[in-house]
This record gives sequence, C-alpha cells and structure tokens, in this order.
Amino acid sequence: MRLQQLHLPTLREPPKDAETVSHQLLVRAGYIRRIAAGIYSFLPLGVRSLEKVKAIIRQEMDRAGAQEVFMPAIIPAELWQQSGRWPVYGPELLRLKDRKQADYCVGPTHEEVVVDLARKDIRSYKQLPVNLYQIQTKFRDEMRPRAGLMRGREFVMKDAYSFDADVSGAHGSYQAMYDAYCRIFSRMGLEFRPVEADTGNIGGSMSHEFQVLAESGEDAIVACDACTFAANVEKAPLPDQPFAATGDTGPARVVDTPGTKTIETLCALLGCRPDQTIKAVLFTADDAPAVAFVRGDREVNEVKVRQALGCKTLYLADAEWFAKTTGLPPGYLGAVGTGGVRTVLDHEIKAMPIAVCGANAKQQHLVDVVPARDLATATYADLRMAVAGDPCPRCAGRLRGFRGIEVGHVFYLGTKYSKAMQATFLDEAGKETLFEMGCYGIGVTRILAAAIEQNHDERGIRWPVALAPFEVAVLPMAADGPQAELARSLYASLNQVGVQAVIDDRAERPGIKFADADLVGYPVQIIVGKRAGEGVVEIKLRHTGQRAERPAAGLVDRVAGALAAARRGGGLALSDLDA
Ligand code: ATP
Ligand code: MG
Repeated sequence: MRLQQLHLPTLREPPKDAETVSHQLLVRAGYIRRIAAGIYSFLPLGVRSLEKVKAIIRQEMDRAGAQEVFMPAIIPAELWQQSGRWPVYGPELLRLKDRKQADYCVGPTHEEVVVDLARKDIRSYKQLPVNLYQIQTKFRDEMRPRAGLMRGREFVMKDAYSFDADVSGAHGSYQAMYDAYCRIFSRMGLEFRPVEADTGNIGGSMSHEFQVLAESGEDAIVACDACTFAANVEKAPLPDQPFAATGDTGPARVVDTPGTKTIETLCALLGCRPDQTIKAVLFTADDAPAVAFVRGDREVNEVKVRQALGCKTLYLADAEWFAKTTGLPPGYLGAVGTGGVRTVLDHEIKAMPIAVCGANAKQQHLVDVVPARDLATATYADLRMAVAGDPCPRCAGRLRGFRGIEVGHVFYLGTKYSKAMQATFLDEAGKETLFEMGCYGIGVTRILAAAIEQNHDERGIRWPVALAPFEVAVLPMAADGPQAELARSLYASLNQVGVQAVIDDRAERPGIKFADADLVGYPVQIIVGKRAGEGVVEIKLRHTGQRAERPAAGLVDRVAGALAAARRGGGLALSDLDA
C-alpha cells in the first residue's frame, strides 16, 4: 500500500478523553474513531489488525474442532425469559421493542441462542460433542465504558459453546479450548498467563481467565514463584491459621476515639499500625445486614464473603440503613458483641496476638483485644484478597503480584442453561439427558488494546509481528532519484514475496515519516537514504529499537524469512537479517 493513498489520519495530540496509552495511540495512529461513549469505528489500519486477530482465532478454533456459526445480534426476550436472565441481567442489557411492541435485546453474550439451536437440532448422543463459535459484535451498556477498546459498550467477541453428552466429555472440551487459547495468545506474540478465576454462582472449579500482563491492567493476579499456580486475587484461596498464643495482656479496654471512622485516623490517634487493627465491612446479604471483619491493612473479597455467608445476593451496605436496622454505629463496629447481626471474620485475624477494633459504640474502640481469648468462638473463613507475599495454596512457594488485562475466559457451565431451557438429547439408553456445556469467550477488540498496553514506547505502538497492520514500512528519504527508485523496487519485491509492506511516498519531511512510522508501529522500517546509490539501506526494528545498515541486495528474502518465523508469535532480531 502506498501511504499517499492510504486513509491514515494520524494526529499530533492524543484525544482529550483518552487516559490510557492504548486508547491514545489507537486514535492518534489512525486505527479507530469514537462515535459515542464506548462505541468506535475502525479505520483501514484498525480493520487490518482486527482481521489478523480474527484469523488467528479462527485457525486455532477450527484446529481444535470447533465450528463457526453466526448468530443474530438481536435476540427475542422470550429466550432470555426461558433462561431466567431477562429479569436479572440489569441495565447492562440493552432492551428494545419492535413495531409490534415485542421485547428484544442486543446480545451481550449468546448462551440462550446457542442452546436454542442445540435443543432444536441435536436429538441424539451420536451428534455429540459439538462446539459452535462465532465472531460477532456484542453490546453491553457498561456503566463506565473506558479506555477505548478496552471496555467498550459495543465490542467484538469470539464466543464458543460446547455441548457434550457427559461431564468427562465436557472436561475434554474445556481442556481443548484451554489449549487452543494458549496457542492463540502465543501466536499473537503476547505475554499472558492463564489464571484460575471465580466461577460466580455457577459453582464448580473450572474457570480460567487469560490475562495479558500489563501494568495498566484492571485485574490483580497472583502467581506462585515456585509452582504453576496462578489465580485472580478474587479466587486465590488463603490458608487457615492457628490462634496466636495469648500473652499476659490484660482484658480488652474501651478507649475514646473521637473522629476515627477510618483505619488511618484511628492509627494516627492510637499510634498503632493498620495490621494491628480489625476492620469491619458492612454488607446487605440476601436483604439482611451482615459484617465481614478483616485485618485493617487487608482488602475484603466479596466473592469469598458471599461464599462464606452462603447468600445469593451481596452488596456493600448503605451505612444509614445499616445503623437503622441494627442499632450499631458504622465506623465503630467491632468483632466483640455485635448482638444478633451476622458476622464472619477472616481467619488471618486468629494469627493476631493482640488487636484494636471498634467498640460497637460511637466514638469508641476496644484495645488489647486478644482474638484467642476474646474471639475464640467467632465464625472464621477465608475472606480477603490475596496479595504478593502470601503463601501459595499448592506448595511451599510464595505468591507474586501482577496486573493483567482479561482477554479470554473459559468456563465450565455444566447443565445451568440446558436445564433452564429444557435442552436435552437422547443418550445411549434412550433417556432424555441435559447437555453438559462450556462457554469460551475472547475479547477480540480488547486484544488490540491489550497488545498495545504491553507493546509501546513514548513514540508509539510496537506491534508484535502477528498483529501489525503492515509488517514493513519502506521510507524513501527523497521523492525522486536513486533513493525513490531503490525504495520502489524494494517495496515491489516485498509485496511479491508476500510481505505486507507500505511505502511512504508522501511529500513529507523525513522527520514526519519517521515519527509516523514509529507511531503506527510497523515492526520493520527500511530507510532508503544517502547510501541508496551504493545499494545500502538502513534497517530499524521497532520492537528493539535496533538499527543497522545492510546491503539492499538479498535483503527482501532475508526480511521475508525473518517475518515468516515472527508471524507465528516470535520476535525479530537484527541477526535474523544477516546473510
Ligand atoms: P469483564 O470482567 O472485563 O467485564 P466479563 O467477565 O464480563 O469481563 P465475559 O463475559 O467473560 O467478560 O466476556 C468474554 C471476553 O470479552 C472477556 O474476557 C473480555 O476479554 C471481553 N469483554 C468483556 N466485556 C468487554 C467490554 N465491555 N469491552 C471489550 N471487551 C470486553
Ligand atoms: Mg463484564
């Protein structure tokens, strides 16, 4: 492609609403344009990279035995009523009516539609297993669309759904998808980790998120430094602890602590550390008040609290409502003497030799609380988020902390949807049996943002070769003469051998061509400058920043050879371009 002809509107300045690097660069480098909050158009370069993502996904899904279908974006409410999700999905679901006032939604995910396909057409175990996938535009009316393609309202997802005759078959389908996802993200040249994830209220142990590692990631994950254990912090279980030995501490005492509703103000007043305090977090659990206590420096994990309380719904409680319902003073709540209110304590509290907690009276706290003595009969459970330094639940190792961007999610569903929607087949004995299902998502558009968060510098994008819209940019430093001539011939030869190349034939200064090439992120730049007459050009590798002069003769074949390897997910080095 000649840049003179390419619709590639690059911008000097990032858009005002863009806070994350990937959002800024995708707009500045001419990949996407915003239409409304969380809704974007893709420009030619954006489409090219997106198509590469899709192609890799398709190849690996097909190789894993899945079959591509294409389901409608607009779904009749009736199907969602059958699954039970119509009343509970909430405002993320975009609902609409047709001219006959019949209800529809724009699909945020497609379990209902695919289960309807299966129950209509799969009658016998002989037709199983089946794994159907699609690449399609989803709509979720996210409360906070942010970071461009990272969290859009309209976005492209690959969603797959497996149907098996039994649990062991379903586990096999799950494993096949897990393996396919590993190949997909490796081929994209991304640094990623599969991590154990929460299974929400579906239960079971089988759910993994695929996290692209990036400082800016929304998700906190932990991974063992000694074994392969890795999990979302929501999921990582933490071990129970024995009570710390009681010392010769006197009985717990009430002290006046005016104006100390937060751990910081409390510690400042009493001269203690947050890890010597016990913090109360107030919840509404199945409409009743409940309190979870964790060490003052810890973060409570709502997923674990829900599990510990065994409740269906759990929200952070409104303080006023809580005070009115229980008569207890929010901000001064303590683990000793909460009356009839349901409480549960994080089991790490057992290991505290002595602690400070609220006194369940306004402006007062209890000091010299000894959990082994004063909280011996309390209910304990695993309630907090894992952090770096925590012990590994699988081995003697320690957990390290990472930030990640969730680009994929594999999930064993069991019979949740087949049961709700009466989707059955006849098993070998001729008995009506519910399908065993799995679902498997990939954030197709989010991958572009994640790849950039992981691969950029102050000048622009540094695409992995597998995702770059074009692989090579030929940059002639003059509009005519030997430089332009050599550039044109290199460009033509690159295209001939199947390398995706552009030539910057615009009437721009070299500085602008360099800046744009770095911004857009072509993995290889071939700069045709002063020594063109002698048949020498300069090569620059965008990812490593390496540059060197090389003879133009034979260069095209060497570039093509190096790219062929890098397209499978590897990197590029200057040594790959040596004769
Ligand atoms: P998140 O926790 O990020 O909201 P999710 O658990 O709702 O994700 P799934 O329903 O599992 O996501 O969707 C499958 C994949 O689709 C996710 O792994 C993610 O990569 C992508 N995805 C989900 N929501 C969005 C969004 N609003 N914008 C872009 N991609 C998204
Ligand atoms: Mg979501």
